[in-house]
Amino acid sequence: MDWLFALIMVWNSLTAAADAEAKAEALRLEQALRLETAYYAENTAPAVLGEAFALMPETVHQGDAVFVRSQEGGELSWNGKVYKLEPFGTGYYALLPVPTDLKPGTYKLGGKPLTVKAKTFETDRLTVTKEQQSMWQNTERINADQKKINKARSSSAPAPYYKEPFVVPTEGRLSTPYGYTRYVNGVFNGSHRAIDLAAPTGTPVKATNAGKVVLAEELYLTGNSIYIDHGLNLFSQYAHLSKLSVKPGDEVRVGDVIGEVGSTGFSTGPHLHFTFWIGNDPTNPDLFFGKTPFRWAAK
Ligand SMILES: [Zn+2]
Repeated sequence: MDWLFALIMVWNSLTAAADAEAKAEALRLEQALRLETAYYAENTAPAVLGEAFALMPETVHQGDAVFVRSQEGGELSWNGKVYKLEPFGTGYYALLPVPTDLKPGTYKLGGKPLTVKAKTFETDRLTVTKEQQSMWQNTERINADQKKINKARSSSAPAPYYKEPFVVPTEGRLSTPYGYTRYVNGVFNGSHRAIDLAAPTGTPVKATNAGKVVLAEELYLTGNSIYIDHGLNLFSQYAHLSKLSVKPGDEVRVGDVIGEVGSTGFSTGPHLHFTFWIGNDPTNPDLFFGKTPFRWAAK
């Protein structure tokens, strides 16, 4: 009965291989779950990770953002754009912008209701010299810069560089909050979708969180500017700096000094113009300070 013995041997080795594969898969899952859970607040991780589709948070204001976790990969349609869900840990993630002018109401997102609440944005009136005002007419330079900026924000790491909460990038007085409707010399200049922190020239500017520098150079309107990719399509922007201390490709940690406050470009005094971008859409910095999008689930 040699053939039977041989068959049993083959069978045993096959089941052992399958067993080893199953064990390796279980270990891989466990490690991915550990990695992912570490990004959450202890009390929210089980609820979010147990859901097929989770919105963090489920209620937002105009100008905010929403972080999505899905058990399945693919794409999400939101407000006329398509967003890719990136694999991270045991789930798939996407960060979605909520424009300042999005109509308040309840929207369906991946079968879940997302409530968008209205927000009042104040008006900011700025008086500048004729010379400064004329800067906005140089559309050739403005458009050339925009191309560079869009290119820098065209790709992002598929996993977050950060784990710690985001920090306020400089010590200063909040001179213009997020979302102010701005008039320059009485002319509508759009919505100021950033915060301005007034501080003396030379005040250190820190990286709001870990990431990779994707742009660090002098631009026409925003002066010496830095963009940092934080992964998952999130970028931070620092403008009007007097000094740049990083270059494209540099990896930074949270709180690393990347430059100094200044008044370069279109600016009326030393301040840091700071904001976050989800791809090419700006989003409210206040959502990030002291947190990360993984912590937006906490009520
Ligand atoms: Zn500003």
